[in-house]
Amino acid sequence: MSVVISISVFAKSNVVYVGTNAEFAPFEYLDKNKIVGFDIDLLDAISKETGLEFKIQDMAFDGLLPALQTKKVDMVIAGMTATPERQKTVAFSKPYFKAKQVVITKGENKSLKSFKDLSGKKVGVMLGFTGDTVVSEIKGVKIERFNAAYAAILALSQNKIDAVVLDSEPAKKYTANNKQFVIANIPAEEEDYAIAFRKNDKELINKVNVALDKIKANGEYDKILKKYFK
Ligand code: GLN
Repeated sequence: MSVVISISVFAKSNVVYVGTNAEFAPFEYLDKNKIVGFDIDLLDAISKETGLEFKIQDMAFDGLLPALQTKKVDMVIAGMTATPERQKTVAFSKPYFKAKQVVITKGENKSLKSFKDLSGKKVGVMLGFTGDTVVSEIKGVKIERFNAAYAAILALSQNKIDAVVLDSEPAKKYTANNKQFVIANIPAEEEDYAIAFRKNDKELINKVNVALDKIKANGEYDKILKKYFK
C-alpha cells in the first residue's frame, strides 16, 4: 500500500500547473480552442529541459497571481512584467522578453509626444496590467478599465475612448490588419517579462532558470523568437 502511495506522489511531482490568460497574442492566445503562442512554446522548451509536465489553465489576468498564492497553479506565464510591486508577493524567473507600453489611437495624433499628453483624455487600459499602472499615474486622465485588449480596441474603434495603452507586441497584433489604428511612437520604460512563482518554491524556480539559460544558449529561444517575431 505504501508503495502505491509513494509511486503516485512521485508521478504527481512532475506535473506543474501553469496559469495564463490566453488573450495576449502573440504570447498566449486561442487558436481553434487551443492555447498557443510564444510563452507556450517557451514552456514546451522548458519542459524538454526539465522533464516537468506543464498543465495550462486559462483565466482572467487579474486572477493569475491570486491563483498562484492560493496554490490553484504553481507558475504563471502570461507576458507578465516583473514589477517591483508584484515582487513583493511573488518571485520571478530570469527575464525572458523585453517590452514596453505603447499608445494606440484611431488616426494619428501629432500632439501625443509623451504619456503625460494623455491627460484630459479617455484612455482604455486592461484591468491590472502594467498599462493600468502607467496610466493611473497620469494626472487628469479618464481611465476606462477593460477585461481584455480586444474589448478596449473595439471601444476605440467606436470612438468611445480616445486611446488604448497596451504592451508593444500585442498592440501590433491587435492593430495589424486595421489601418485606422496608429501606434504612437513615444518613449516608454522597458519592462521585463518573466515567469511568476510562489516565493518559497525555490527548487522549481531554480529548475526553470537553469532551463531558460540553456534554451537561450542552445538556440532554442531564438527559434521561438523567430517563429513569432519575424
Ligand atoms: N505585461 C503586462 C503586465 O504584466 C500585460 C500582461 C498581459 O496582459 N498578459 O501587466
